[in-house]
Amino acid sequence: MLNADFFRRWMTVTAASVDREAERLTELDSPIGDADHGSNLQRGFTAVTAALEKDAPDTPGAVLALAGRQLISTVGGASGPLYGTLLRRTGKALGDAPEVTGEQLTDALRTGVDAVMALGGAAPGDKTMIDALVPAVDALAESFAAAKSAAEEGAVATTPLQARKGRASYLGERSIGHQDPGATSSALLIAALVEAAG
Ligand code: ADP
Ligand code: MG
Ligand code: MG
Repeated sequence: MLNADFFRRWMTVTAASVDREAERLTELDSPIGDADHGSNLQRGFTAVTAALEKDAPDTPGAVLALAGRQLISTVGGASGPLYGTLLRRTGKALGDAPEVTGEQLTDALRTGVDAVMALGGAAPGDKTMIDALVPAVDALAESFAAAKSAAEEGAVATTPLQARKGRASYLGERSIGHQDPGATSSALLIAALVEAAG
């Protein structure tokens, strides 16, 4: 069973890996974006960690809801509302249970990813975070490790795609040949599940 501690660890491990990879995320956002993805998420997840330390919500749903609200209010880019929606909707789907199963997390994340697709209008293949998140949720039923691999493969597989959503889409064919920064950060989020499960 996964309790509030596990979800807090998921968020703090994500914050640490976003810190570590911030420069790379910003570099990926420079040829096909505005070179701020790393700093956007760093600001957002720093706020998430601070809020979780201050508040320590005691259910999985409340941890993700608080994290999502922080991302929405502190990240001034497309990724803030999108990741914020992902976490808030996933949290809402978990309800107020003190512990959840891996299967419940999988179902809730699917709800969250669907909400991101509804908000941003992106589908798989549009070269966005969705290209890492959808395969990750599909693999999550197997294991966290399988989800991590699927997300990383999904992120790498955005390279040959032409962007159809977000800033990168303004470049048309010139977006081809670059890995999507948001898919790359989504792979960090999913990889953090493995470490949080420890
Ligand atoms: P901004 O583009 O506003 O500077 P960021 O650089 O923080 O925001 O985030 C860019 C990432 O957000 C992209 O790499 C992409 O993965 C994701 N993204 C942008 N628009 C959408 C969308 N409509 N649907 C899903 N993901 C999107
Ligand atoms: Mg950007
Ligand atoms: Mg920006």
